[in-house]
Amino acid sequence: MKMNKPATTRLYIDGQYCDALSGKTYPQYNPARPEELVGEVASAGVEDVNLACEAARVAMPKWAALSYQERAQYLLKIADHLLANPQELQTRVALFTREHGKILREANMEISRISERFRHVAEYAERLSRDEELTGPPFDTIISRQPRGVAALVVPWNWPISILGAKLPQALISGNTVVVKPSKESAMATAMTVGLMAEMLPPGVINLLTGSSAEIGDPLLSHPAIRTINFTGSVEVGKHVMKVAADNLVPVTLELGGNDAGIILEDAKLDDAAFNRMYLASFMSSGQICMAMKRIYVHRSRYQEVVNGLTKIASAQVIGDGSLPTTTMGPLNNKKQFGVVTSMIDEAKQSGCEVRELGRVPDIALYENGYFQKPTLVLDPDLELRVVREEQFGPVVPIIPFNTVDEAIKLANDSEFGLCSSVWTEDRDQALNVARQLEAGYTYLNSHGPLAQDSRAPFGGHKHSGVGRNLGYEGIIAFQEMHAISAPQGWLL
Ligand code: NAP
Ligand code: MG
Repeated sequence: MKMNKPATTRLYIDGQYCDALSGKTYPQYNPARPEELVGEVASAGVEDVNLACEAARVAMPKWAALSYQERAQYLLKIADHLLANPQELQTRVALFTREHGKILREANMEISRISERFRHVAEYAERLSRDEELTGPPFDTIISRQPRGVAALVVPWNWPISILGAKLPQALISGNTVVVKPSKESAMATAMTVGLMAEMLPPGVINLLTGSSAEIGDPLLSHPAIRTINFTGSVEVGKHVMKVAADNLVPVTLELGGNDAGIILEDAKLDDAAFNRMYLASFMSSGQICMAMKRIYVHRSRYQEVVNGLTKIASAQVIGDGSLPTTTMGPLNNKKQFGVVTSMIDEAKQSGCEVRELGRVPDIALYENGYFQKPTLVLDPDLELRVVREEQFGPVVPIIPFNTVDEAIKLANDSEFGLCSSVWTEDRDQALNVARQLEAGYTYLNSHGPLAQDSRAPFGGHKHSGVGRNLGYEGIIAFQEMHAISAPQGWLL
């Protein structure tokens, strides 16, 4: 196979690509071949955080003074610019696969679809421009909104670019300027994409910091210029973010982990198309999706059918290097996550339940060396196993039979998480009845996950899955403060 030259990515501060002031970089390796260097990433320090936050603070008033329509025009320009150079786009997609592990098709989908998110958010300009008016007596009042100020946007490694699409255009159209911090586990394609966006805007509106959160995380979150934090990542770090934000009384939106239940009712339509959706719901991106279906509860009368259907599809998968067009599942992104997933599978095996590790592996040497795990089904496990209780974030899913609908709802809700969920049935009324009882921010019907997501709808979780919402109109006004302007009746309106 042709070896690619290592790439480098830089910071973007105040309208310029730049190195970290210290000159430091860190190496990024390929999770399919952990000894292969993909490139060097600029490693920001505290002094770079200060420059980025200061640039965003200075740029903010002018950006906020533009109309929503003017800012929407910028979003549309960004959407075009990101797709303008097909060759550059393909280089970025290939780099994304090499640094991340995800297969080319998914890397391509993620990098191409970010433009759709910018276009979609631009469409809200008209609605955002409308103030609410209340007439008296006793007062006439205009209820308006103002941007919060500089937003810190933190994204995880699993879908870094799509997740930016759920917060970055929203922050911008609201009139905020931003400092973006990707995860050190997958920063290169994100840095290049954010750089292209920033090039289209006035200096300081988008600033980018790459580097380790151990060095720049808290300095960014606690910088006095930061007026709102939008964080996507783990529950553990999310709690820490909220504590750090408390010191400056900065509002947070937290999109955290999930352990989504899918409930397959007695009458569900289970044809090839349904099994395909079900498979992707759990195993797309090697299962490294916040809103993946992570627990499958099936009516006992359909249990064997679901096990057989998913076994058939999982067996047909080709596991290997995501850069090869024939591969349908790549490695896990990093060694730590690989360890989490394989230890859950080991625990399930030791408990004595049936564990099916499926799929074809054309290159065994590669498989054994990289962070690979075959798509794995854990059948009728003990409900206290970690693969049931915890977020696996990998290509393994437990399948659990139930007897009654009430039992299924109780099992689904018996979780510290509450991100998404799904109900699979032919009966619309029953689907709604069950959905309304699920403690989750989103319920998909007869599907589950990113392919079923309506980006007009707010997205976020109950319980430990988060605080606040991204996406939709709600995800935009989350970047704003309400502002009431009033006078005695008859004077203002
Ligand atoms: P993570 O370890 O919590 O890291 C998330 C991001 O936070 C990374 O960019 C990380 O940077 C950064 N970070 C860590 N400590 C920080 C600090 N003190 N200050 C500022 N930033 C800090 O999560 P992950 O392992 O990348 O992502 C997987 C998790 O994200 C899963 O639980 C998944 O469910 C969740 N997730 C949720 C959603 C959702 O929308 N609800 C979407 C996707 C993923 P470094 O990499 O440099 O440490
Ligand atoms: Mg789980």
